[in-house]
Amino acid sequence: MKIVVIPGDGIGPETMAACDEVMMAASQHFDLDLELEHEIAGTQSLKKRGATVTHELLDLVKSRDGLMLGPMATYEFKDESKGEINPSMFFRKKLDLFANIRPSKTYPGLAKRVAQDFDLIVVRENTEGFYADRNVESGGSEMLITPDVVISLRRITRLCCERIAKSAFELAQHRKKHVTIVHKANVLKLGDGMFIDICHATAKDYPEVVVDDFIVDAMMAHVVRAPERFDVIVTTNMFGDILSDLTAELSGSLGLAGTLNAGTQYAMGQAAHGSAPDIAGQNIANPLSQIISGAMLLTWHGQKTGQAKFLAAAQAIESSALHLMQTAQVTPDVGGNLRTDSTAQALVKHLLATPH
Ligand code: NAD
Repeated sequence: MKIVVIPGDGIGPETMAACDEVMMAASQHFDLDLELEHEIAGTQSLKKRGATVTHELLDLVKSRDGLMLGPMATYEFKDESKGEINPSMFFRKKLDLFANIRPSKTYPGLAKRVAQDFDLIVVRENTEGFYADRNVESGGSEMLITPDVVISLRRITRLCCERIAKSAFELAQHRKKHVTIVHKANVLKLGDGMFIDICHATAKDYPEVVVDDFIVDAMMAHVVRAPERFDVIVTTNMFGDILSDLTAELSGSLGLAGTLNAGTQYAMGQAAHGSAPDIAGQNIANPLSQIISGAMLLTWHGQKTGQAKFLAAAQAIESSALHLMQTAQVTPDVGGNLRTDSTAQALVKHLLATPH
């Protein structure tokens, strides 16, 4: 398996180095023959190549088996005409990675922010919605009407609703068989009206899956009050982005939130958080989000190619992460005193002792 690895900005180089160490240990232990090919995007690429991402890089990624993308200083990238392109958007759009899969769960051993344990997955649409940078073929979908008036357009299409709904129901079938649709159809009557109708129509193909729906604002209260009542949550792009940061933090820290961005042909592992400039360069960022994202990419590849050893490796990485949390071998954001690099070393030690 050949993976392009892009460390990114801020804490990215630290968390990605930790992830690399774990991935290479998993490769050795499970005989995966992984090749990690390092590339640049974001600030480094802007300085060196005049753009945060390039089409040559896209071609390289397409020719490999997967991408690990580190966090990017997206807020700094203001003007696409100057090469300041959002790398997340670029890969999600160009590789058609429509499903953003974000699991969140509590771990025994970590201080809980909620009363009950929970284990849920946010399935967020990734290629349209309220994201001005991915809705139109050319330019953006935000318009400066006068110096004092801006219109931002939100795109919702039947195809994108259908495929994200299907992804959610497929996932739920292998879990607690419960899908919650999150929307704002009371106000966005046409767009979210179509989204919710399509989700309910898709549900008919999965009669064993229980379905309910919540308006997004009330959902924030429900998920804080009782996250354990949810299993798979399907929603549109921006609601999913916001909700999944909340569920990650409820599980202990944003630094625990792994993500897989998946389409039918390509996939990208990417931590849910950003470049965290407030803690960059201090070796204290939690690398587990990046590492769990790496495990998700291995699972995706194992399922795609029918190779059980990739699934076993991913499972061993996840069990080793669980072991670290149970034994308080974690970074300060979740109450520990390990550093980013020593977390990776502790995880590798446990991983290499895993029987297979
Ligand atoms: P952020 O996600 O970077 O940080 C939010 C808070 O969570 C901070 O207090 C940070 O220290 C903490 N945090 C994040 N990751 C952590 C980790 N692994 N371990 C411990 N603590 C962690 O959000 P922000 O500060 O609003 O954004 C910073 C930059 O990242 C901005 O330029 C933003 O646009 C960008 N961003 C990029 C992505 C991405 O590349 N996927 C996602 C979100 C934000």
